[in-house]
Amino acid sequence: MNQLAPNVFYANRYPTFGGVATREGVVAVDGPMKPTDAAEWRAFLESKGPIRYIIHTEHHQDHIAINGLMPGTVVASRLTDADFFKSIPSSEVAVERMRKYDPKAGGLLDGYRLRTPDFVYDGSLTLRLGGETFHLRHSPGHTRGQTHVHAAESRVVFTGDNITPGNFPFFHSASVWAWFDSLLHLESLDVDWYVPGHGEPCRRDEVPRQRAKMEEIIGEVRRLKRMGKSREEVQEEARYIHRPGLDYPRVLGPRAQELEAAGLGVVYDALDERP
Ligand SMILES: [Zn+2]
Repeated sequence: MNQLAPNVFYANRYPTFGGVATREGVVAVDGPMKPTDAAEWRAFLESKGPIRYIIHTEHHQDHIAINGLMPGTVVASRLTDADFFKSIPSSEVAVERMRKYDPKAGGLLDGYRLRTPDFVYDGSLTLRLGGETFHLRHSPGHTRGQTHVHAAESRVVFTGDNITPGNFPFFHSASVWAWFDSLLHLESLDVDWYVPGHGEPCRRDEVPRQRAKMEEIIGEVRRLKRMGKSREEVQEEARYIHRPGLDYPRVLGPRAQELEAAGLGVVYDALDERP
């Protein structure tokens, strides 16, 4: 586990997750998808205080699976709540998948239940705990329900997958144009650190890099679509994750290409609004 600021901790596993320790307990943002990592993360956080809240930045499995293995009130945006079972259809399926990608999980999964959010917010939510102020903001982008968690006194923002340093963006659940607005919000914050959904914590200058990566992919889809290519043709021809320069989460295996193609379809459709 790494320390980013006096009370801010994170680990870059899968995904990148973090937490803030306050005088009255800990606020966790997402968590590892592997149960064995989760046990380690939980013990680490509990050494800083009781885990009071777990905030989800999005509904994808890698961000929410943890919550069946952690205490604390689960918080998410309205649309993350609405999408909650789209990535993990049920607790039973979650357990099946976790046993597959974490064969050492063993008894950690006994009685596992995925927990739906206890607190659901619209627009924005301010949460005060033990001297820290957390501004949660619905910031559609990588998913339509995405949440940014700004820990004001600690000068850090948890961005979820709206920022992914060193990694290609994925559009399969994206609100393509709103994503750019959410990047503007991230740029406007007075913070020292951005903790992304994948990759290492970064500075403000990562935001334009993220925008450029997205523009490049969208530009390519636009070019092919203007040539009259069909959605399916574009899904084949605009593939990007195997290009050199950036990476994609290897743990996804062949599913990475499925998500990539689905995302290219989402971008293709979004271009109807901004041809
Ligand atoms: Zn995601």
